[in-house]
Amino acid sequence: MLRMQSAWLFAAALCFTACGARSDRTSRSADLMVYGRVWTGDSTNPWAEAVAVRGETIAAVGDSATLSAMVGPGTRIIANGKAMVVPGFMEGHAHLLSGGLQLTKVDLRDASSPSDFIARIKAHAAKLAPGEWITGGGWDHERWPGAPLPERSWIDSVTPNNPVFVSRLDGHMALANTAALRRAGITRATPEISGGTIVRDRRTGEPTGALKENARTPVDQVVPLPSPSQSDSAVARAMQWAVTRGVTAAVTMSEDPGAIAVAKSWLELASLKRAHSRGTMPLRVAVFVSLEAWRAMGDTLRRDGPGDDWLRAAGVKGFIDGSLGSKTALFYEPYNDAPETSGLFVTPEDSLRAWIGGADSAGLQVVVHAIGERANGVLLDIFDSVAKAHGPRDRRFRVEHAQHLRRGDIARLARSGVIASMQPYHAIDDGRWAQKRIGPERIKTMYAFRTLLDSGAHLAFGSDWTVAPIDPLLGIYAAVTRRTLDGKNPNGWIPEQKITVEEALRAYTESNAFGVFAERTRGRLASGYLADLVVLDQDLTAIPPEAIQRVAVRATVVGGKVVFSKP
Ligand SMILES: [Zn+2]
Repeated sequence: MLRMQSAWLFAAALCFTACGARSDRTSRSADLMVYGRVWTGDSTNPWAEAVAVRGETIAAVGDSATLSAMVGPGTRIIANGKAMVVPGFMEGHAHLLSGGLQLTKVDLRDASSPSDFIARIKAHAAKLAPGEWITGGGWDHERWPGAPLPERSWIDSVTPNNPVFVSRLDGHMALANTAALRRAGITRATPEISGGTIVRDRRTGEPTGALKENARTPVDQVVPLPSPSQSDSAVARAMQWAVTRGVTAAVTMSEDPGAIAVAKSWLELASLKRAHSRGTMPLRVAVFVSLEAWRAMGDTLRRDGPGDDWLRAAGVKGFIDGSLGSKTALFYEPYNDAPETSGLFVTPEDSLRAWIGGADSAGLQVVVHAIGERANGVLLDIFDSVAKAHGPRDRRFRVEHAQHLRRGDIARLARSGVIASMQPYHAIDDGRWAQKRIGPERIKTMYAFRTLLDSGAHLAFGSDWTVAPIDPLLGIYAAVTRRTLDGKNPNGWIPEQKITVEEALRAYTESNAFGVFAERTRGRLASGYLADLVVLDQDLTAIPPEAIQRVAVRATVVGGKVVFSKP
């Protein structure tokens, strides 16, 4: 279905430039005309002055004098002066359901001290009925003096009637209060859980409430799942939020690490299907469900097909390791600030091999979270052996995060065509404290955007929202400046890994289109492509890079429709 439509659009594009300009101009005027400094993303013709849209697609891109002939009485005009117009930003890795839920939950992202953390939970608890769960969070103990992990003793007295389970911003560690631990049955006697850590008091052995990776599972299992209608409104809220940031298409990784991943996957996919059938999707979404559910996903695709340009059941996503912030990212050598560990596998290696092999033989696109150097190395080995065993196919394996890469693995990524799906905002966030964790050598190939591009690897960008804001302009700012959030690296943290504005734009547009097999219809402004574009209030190439973080989205257009405009 998708392929047929792409082929048709492609044919239309060729016809327009080769033979149809005359008849098109006389037959019908444009529905929408956008003037501005247009960056097309088309390297043969990167700059233009106007984009003409008819229906859902781009009718022409070119100079304003020529295209003005397509303006008729019914044409809507957006005139953007010398400010920039770009292809719609594509978000390569977000979590729409959990992001939409988070928008109404306790927000601990900016909690700047333990007392601030406690006060926010107390204020939130006051709004809830007894017994209601407090979830969400997004706390970051690296913001606090001395960076202590939070403990349940901090919050028990302010949450006597509500179980609490609030996540660290990376989603790899969470804090439970005593009420939540009790419901989950976690006590001092609970044995260690494989692929996870129950953080314990050094003296007494009592769980402190902090639970890493798979140790969260017992609590996850007793937190009620959102109802279908809660899920519908969360997904709707997330999509609306995304288009205000200029996102015209998103990949949603429809899982969280943990045991409820599979249930959440189907919940999110069902909500998106309902939104699609009601015609209320403001942007395009590609869904990856939990790798563990590859067999069911294969069956779903065989039964229902992959979907269309608005909603696509894209493939499956797995996890190999944890995160740097939680010291669970898997390295070859130990952490500098925790020599007893070098991270962990959150999925056993043999399960990963079996699932990736199964998913690939079912024809699914497989993407896997890998952060640490060893996680990336092992994953590339698995991808390699699966590809060899199953023979050539346009499979587009993706490494999600690819955060720490040994130089040899950067070259392997480029050689194998595996896509590096990365989140530049993490670089300016983690860059605040990464060196104390892994030392001065290993940070040199951390978020190695420059080296990846120079070696010819596919580099696609996203946010991992809610781990970072779902705001491509902030991602571009981060990739171009590498200025850490604490202001301590004004010339950039590991500045040799900076990339240019146009390279960052490409990673948010064309490369993400390629990452979901949509490069024939999306990712650039050219006639015949879908009319997804963003109107900015400045020209990113004409301002100092540090000003990019203050650039705003004026309008977001998806399929020719203005889905957001700034009042
Ligand atoms: Zn993620």
